[in-house]
Amino acid sequence: MKKHLLFLGAPGAGKGTQAELLSKTHSYLHLSTGELLRKEIEMKTPLGKEVKDIINRGELVSDELVLKIVRQNLDKANQGWILDGYPRNLSQANSLNQVLIEINQTLEIVFYLDIPEEVLIKRLLLRGRKDDTEETIRTRVDIYKKTTEPLIEYYKDLSLLKYIDANRELKTISSEIQQKMA
Ligand code: ADP
Repeated sequence: MKKHLLFLGAPGAGKGTQAELLSKTHSYLHLSTGELLRKEIEMKTPLGKEVKDIINRGELVSDELVLKIVRQNLDKANQGWILDGYPRNLSQANSLNQVLIEINQTLEIVFYLDIPEEVLIKRLLLRGRKDDTEETIRTRVDIYKKTTEPLIEYYKDLSLLKYIDANRELKTISSEIQQKMA
């Protein structure tokens, strides 16, 4: 059973939902950088204040800042972990490698949740989170295509990538993920 996993895919592809389900089943840590950042905003911490406007515009917060969050949390996970929303660009992927070397762990599998663009835009508009307005969705999808999508090739080259058709029922997707991580 794989213990160190990562979800890759566009905003709205269902990474959070699948990562949450899987983490509950296996008692793994679900490490969602977006979720952690939103908590900081809610609690009005200095960090939250720093990132609020950036997130509400649909832009990425700095690599240093998310790296700090990831490092702090990965350290605590002893059962296993599922990264969701990190890395989002090549520099973050390199930093992640570095951290994993430091803590003597290896990434074992990358699930790429693939979904047509028109489906994800519909899903995000329905979700209605604060950063889910039409304009920010467009920004996020653009950033995804430019900076995050290259990671698909990156992890494919490392033979870590598992392709998942995410335009199906939630349960169908989760059972395929379960099979593939065994
Ligand atoms: P989604 O992937 O559905 O857009 P997330 O919860 O993963 O939602 O992320 C929400 C926001 O948090 C992003 O639009 C971005 O501003 C910020 N964020 C999350 N993860 C990262 C990251 N790895 N690097 C930079 N910014 C991030």
